[in-house]
Amino acid sequence: MIKRFDDTGYTWEDVDTLVYKQDGSPFKDVTRQVLFNGAFDIPCQFRYFEVKPGGYSTLEHHEHTHMVMIFRGEGQCLLGEIVTDVKAGDFIEVPSHTIHQFRANKGDYLGFLCLVNLDRDKVKIPDAEQIEAMKENPVVKEFLESC
Ligand code: MN
Repeated sequence: MIKRFDDTGYTWEDVDTLVYKQDGSPFKDVTRQVLFNGAFDIPCQFRYFEVKPGGYSTLEHHEHTHMVMIFRGEGQCLLGEIVTDVKAGDFIEVPSHTIHQFRANKGDYLGFLCLVNLDRDKVKIPDAEQIEAMKENPVVKEFLESC
């Protein structure tokens, strides 16, 4: 099956553009497109997420891992204790139980492809205590307080 890419809107033929999450978790200006929803020998979902300029994905953690490749634009990523600029082509592995967030804070869209297992645990949001502990790292503190 071939789903043609439209580089004017960053959409794919016959793929709906969906709300990023519908579980009430905090995020801003993120869409989700599911390009692949698993096959018998590849029990994975392959998605494209796009964050509009100024938007951000949920600050979250979970047991399941992500394989991410930035596909459009540039922004920043929080990965555990790391805050780093990311741009199209960068590859990011999000390990188990690592707090992560993607932000389109560089005046551009930030689009990324993300592979996950179909069978995965629910997303967890860090509580106030965890966020305070994260802020002991000054780089993380600056990132968390800048949105
Ligand atoms: Mn995640």
